Amino acid sequence: MTDVLTENASAQPATDSTATNGPSLSDFVTRAANGQAADGRRDLVGIPREELTELMAAMGESKFRVKQLWNWVYYRGVTDIEDMTNISKKLRDRLAQDFYVGRPVLTADQKSTDDTHKWLMKFHDGNEAETVYIPDRNEDRGAVCISSQVGCTLTCKFCHTGTQLLVRNLTPGEIVSQFMIARDSYGEWPTPSNGIRRLSNIVMMGMGEPLFNYENVRDALRIAMDGEGISISRRRVTLSTSGVVPEIVRCGEELGVGLAISLHAPEDDLRNEIMPINKKYPLKELMDACRHYPGMSNSRPITMEYVMLKGINDKPEHARALAKLVKGVHCKFNLIPFNKWPGSDYECTPTNDIKKFAQILLDNGYEAPIRWPRGRDILAACGQLKSESQRQRKSRVGGCAKPDAGNDGVVAAQ
Ligand code: SAH
Ligand code: SF4
Repeated sequence: MTDVLTENASAQPATDSTATNGPSLSDFVTRAANGQAADGRRDLVGIPREELTELMAAMGESKFRVKQLWNWVYYRGVTDIEDMTNISKKLRDRLAQDFYVGRPVLTADQKSTDDTHKWLMKFHDGNEAETVYIPDRNEDRGAVCISSQVGCTLTCKFCHTGTQLLVRNLTPGEIVSQFMIARDSYGEWPTPSNGIRRLSNIVMMGMGEPLFNYENVRDALRIAMDGEGISISRRRVTLSTSGVVPEIVRCGEELGVGLAISLHAPEDDLRNEIMPINKKYPLKELMDACRHYPGMSNSRPITMEYVMLKGINDKPEHARALAKLVKGVHCKFNLIPFNKWPGSDYECTPTNDIKKFAQILLDNGYEAPIRWPRGRDILAACGQLKSESQRQRKSRVGGCAKPDAGNDGVVAAQ
């Protein structure tokens, strides 16, 4: 089933279904890049807690007020300050002079026959990014795959996003609001307290390189992981990177989230060719950073993502070299069948060869599940998102290649 809402057909900001009097589309699109409305008001969504505390203190308000605001915005998901009913009307009016609660505009909303769900979101300046929900196949839970940038400065050859120029980094508010829109869509407000959540995990595997927008990603994830709001445990958050070495250890120290590495080649020559970032941060440095990753443990191994490219990186000797390369790193592999996109030169490795590849890794002591594509019918599988957005919307922005979900994989709920 494909259910595309065009902008004209659904010129509604994505809001909590209970909130009907939200701002108009034009209110949203005129908002300035730092989360400020054209009238100078600031979006509460995305303001780090410490900063909110300072802002409230400047208004003569206590930490208790911060707690209340936090609860309304991130625990209950309200989108109108007027609905914050345990705050006096006088203070609500004062707050509304300086702040609002924002959501990006939803410009497309598609559901796959396998229940993968994709949203195209437009931000105040007209830029768009895609967010995908991948439900677990067997359980009532799943992962929301979030974008960190519009486009990507990197040019990995197998990735459609790599053909697209970076438009800009997403702000903390734009990053965390992708998850909040998913919650709006599934009515998962207030934050379920019984542990049963359909939107149980976050994976930073959408469009862009999260470690090239590290500070905004960090602020957004801290908001999402705050126990008094959205409250996603860090054990349920995974960040995927192409290997921005200097930020890897920092990410582990400051966030402690799960780490996934887009590895895709066992030696430098090949990796230089298909992932140019390797020339700056070669495999030895990358493996050293992984060995020192603070969050790495037996119970939480690093995930090595490996896209299967026919005749390029898929020979038995590549698998044996991989096993050697990752020695000393607690890790497992995710083998991702390559998804072709228009203009790409690569083909996917035949299934039987992927299975043999997986077996070699297994024989060497490494789990290597194959991540079969999800959401293909709505072009939400790896490498497909961007092409569909471009074709439909004739714009240069869209989704990123994204790995697939599996029952125990990095994308799946854990
Ligand atoms: N920029 C980050 C986050 C994006 S995650 C990173 O590169 O890790 C997207 C994942 O999908 C990455 O592992 C990427 O290498 C993989 N991928 C990209 N294009 C793909 C394609 N066409 N088929 C399968 N996987 C792809
Ligand atoms: Fe950017 Fe990741 Fe795609 Fe490489 S794989 S181009 S880093 S989004």
